Amino acid sequence: MVETSNLSYTYDDGTALAFPDIRLTPGEHMLVIGPSGVGKTTLLYLMAGLLPALKGSVTIDGTALNTLSRKEVDKFRGKHIGIIFQQYHFIKSLNVSDNLRLRQSFPKNTIDGKRRHELAQRLGLVEHLGKKVNALSQGQQQRLGIALGLIHKPKIILADEPTSNLDDGNCTKVLDLLKEEAEICQSSLLIITHDQRVKSHFKNQVVL
Ligand code: ADP
Ligand code: MG
Repeated sequence: MVETSNLSYTYDDGTALAFPDIRLTPGEHMLVIGPSGVGKTTLLYLMAGLLPALKGSVTIDGTALNTLSRKEVDKFRGKHIGIIFQQYHFIKSLNVSDNLRLRQSFPKNTIDGKRRHELAQRLGLVEHLGKKVNALSQGQQQRLGIALGLIHKPKIILADEPTSNLDDGNCTKVLDLLKEEAEICQSSLLIITHDQRVKSHFKNQVVL
């Protein structure tokens, strides 16, 4: 269960943002949609504990993130939260498999070769596991970004604009894939986007 309550954030320059409460049960999907600059990425960062909630709270399976130290939040995120970033965070000197392996290892998650292989198979990356990240096509890099968000079977998947650079066919493919993975792991799935095409894929919607 993921719950936010009275969440707001003010950047140093005075930009103030307030968010509607969000509640997600295990396995539930939700779309947060709104125009550019409205605060979608900020909301995702707050929910992932990458930004501290200055007001309000984020609670994941009974743990309120603001009761944890910074180090504890990092550990909690590593174990329970999967983030699909708008901008990829790869280690370029490592190959695809080792990028996934490194994500599995933090923090002390099980290093599970079978999981790596299965996920790579479902994401069409299995024949690319030995390649350096730079040798991947744009689409393959995007799928690796998704794999890194999912490899540790997180309780909650947070995806920031996962379809923004995709044509219609790949847009549908990526959304189906995220739903399928969320289903397999019984994870809550929150997709944050300005992409109007995504609307028809989700019943549960919050507009910012
Ligand atoms: P979205 O993801 O919906 O495009 P963001 O959450 O990235 O929106 O940004 C929301 C607002 O906060 C914007 O007005 C943006 O300029 C501002 N903002 C984002 N990051 C910072 C920052 N580090 N410092 C100051 N303002 C920021
Ligand atoms: Mg954004």
